[in-house]
Amino acid sequence: MKICVLASGSKGNSILISGIQTNILIDAGISGKKISEKLNYAKVDENSIKAIFITHEHSDHIKGAGVISRKLKIPIFANKSTFQVAKNRIGKVESVYFFENGNPFTFNEFLIEPFSVPHDCEENSCFKISERNSKKKLVILTDAGYSTRLIKEKIKNSSTIILESNHDFDKLINGPYDWSLKQRIKSNNGHLSNSQACELMSEIIHPNLENIILAHLSEENNKPEIAKSEMHKILNKYGHKCNLFIASQNEPTDWIEV
Ligand SMILES: [Zn+2]
Ligand SMILES: [Zn+2]
Repeated sequence: MKICVLASGSKGNSILISGIQTNILIDAGISGKKISEKLNYAKVDENSIKAIFITHEHSDHIKGAGVISRKLKIPIFANKSTFQVAKNRIGKVESVYFFENGNPFTFNEFLIEPFSVPHDCEENSCFKISERNSKKKLVILTDAGYSTRLIKEKIKNSSTIILESNHDFDKLINGPYDWSLKQRIKSNNGHLSNSQACELMSEIIHPNLENIILAHLSEENNKPEIAKSEMHKILNKYGHKCNLFIASQNEPTDWIEV
């Protein structure tokens, strides 16, 4: 299984996952046109995408979902409460399948384990994904207010983690956002900061962890260099040599082997 983060940040998120036979998208939060462009850039035929899995209803996660579902005639998977509040914005779609957080399911060669994460939406689903006959596990953890025991349990044996590193705390507090938005971002239902991401990694770091992809970075309240150097400090502290990538809003990442 390999992955390419097509876009990551408050202006839109989408992750391409490519298995032995199947390509899927996690979220489609940029326009349908942009998704097509980025798939083209990643040299992926868009007709090879077989489903879109939605984490939650915020527009940076669903903006292009309806368009892509209709264009490619592919189903959307979401938890029920997310789909309820998102369906008018998503519009008519090819088909919808509901999953429940805590109940793993399969889609072609993928085993998908959705789990709940605190965030200011109906019900956020993050995902642990593996391929049949493979020990490698990918965890996608973004839009999380804080790291719960369940999160730590889910990510502790992952080989690749896409991890939110949304803001630098000082930049957020001293930055231009009004106080209520600052409160929302740093609250237990907001987003993981650089230091929260580092703290989480220092708790679960293990020898089989191969890739960390820092994601959902704020353009206003963070800088890729800051997020990267903070995480580097943690990796150095534990003498851990895994790959460290930064997902960005505009440029897709390279292909990353999970
Ligand atoms: Zn988001
Ligand atoms: Zn969100």
